[in-house]
Amino acid sequence: MTDLKVLISREEIAKRVSEMGAEITRDFKGQSIIFVGVLKGAAIFLSDLARHVRLDATFDFIGVSSYGNRPSPQKELKDGWDSTGEVKLTKDVDQSMQDKNVIVVEDILDTGLTLTYLRKVLLAHQPRTLRIAALLDKPSRRKLPLEGDYVGFKIPDEFVVGYGLDYAEKYRNLPDICVVPRQ
Ligand code: 5GP
Repeated sequence: MTDLKVLISREEIAKRVSEMGAEITRDFKGQSIIFVGVLKGAAIFLSDLARHVRLDATFDFIGVSSYGNRPSPQKELKDGWDSTGEVKLTKDVDQSMQDKNVIVVEDILDTGLTLTYLRKVLLAHQPRTLRIAALLDKPSRRKLPLEGDYVGFKIPDEFVVGYGLDYAEKYRNLPDICVVPRQ
């Protein structure tokens, strides 16, 4: 795929992620936190964000997938794809979250189905606090009323790749966030 267009540059990402880290540092002053990254898209965001947080912190990861047959990436891009909303856990967290400050780190908040499900799963672990950090947010696509506590950028309804986000598992290592043309 050649005609990817930069939507958010690496410099803009770096600036905003450092601001988000400072916000989290301020909000949890004197406390420790657990970052729970949602595999695989949030891996790069989590590693950058965590390095801007000046607190005792540990990492964990959680995995989810959607039920239903996802169309090919080409078809999904052209016609869109609305999952049934049923999400299943493919990997649970490894450590106890009980009475801990937990921040779920996600690449993008789209319909809200994934994070609504993950909130429920994580609340069952009885954390002291549960917050959501999402690098990107597409508010126009929301199906369930969910907001991120720390949001990097609100973006229009475009399919984006880079900085952890994939298209058929590719492009996660692009340093900028780019729009894939719908054709
Ligand atoms: P939600 O459950 O909020 O609809 O979707 C969240 C998940 O959908 C994200 O974690 C991501 O995997 C996927 N997703 C939504 N929009 C995009 C996009 O523009 N690009 C990519 N690569 N994935 C997306």
